[in-house]
Amino acid sequence: MNGLPAAEVEHLRKRLRNEHARLRREVADELARSEQGRYLELAGRIHDRGDEAVADLLEDLQIAALDRHVHRVRQVEAALAAIDQGRYGLCRACGVQIGSARLEAEPAAERCIDCQTAVEQGRHAPTL
Ligand SMILES: [Zn+2]
Repeated sequence: MNGLPAAEVEHLRKRLRNEHARLRREVADELARSEQGRYLELAGRIHDRGDEAVADLLEDLQIAALDRHVHRVRQVEAALAAIDQGRYGLCRACGVQIGSARLEAEPAAERCIDCQTAVEQGRHAPTL
């Protein structure tokens, strides 16, 4: 089923779990911060137009960071689910076993290096 040694999969599972815990803390912090920002606004803090533009920009950046984190949490969760299902490390595009060097560098890698390169170059859309 899986071309990786069990010990290596266990090691990568541990790394994914650690990353998952860290990301969840960061997402919780970001949500707390943005709620605090809204509270300050609701509490009647007065902005001039320039401040408002900065506040909007900061909020956009926060949302972008949150989006990236949430996306990453999903990737990590997908990798953990794949481990449980015995299909960890298989490229989602072509199905080959992703090399262990690539998984060491990126335990949540979804594609082999060839398919990832193709996607990054826009040669084909990612498949589900
Ligand atoms: Zn592939």
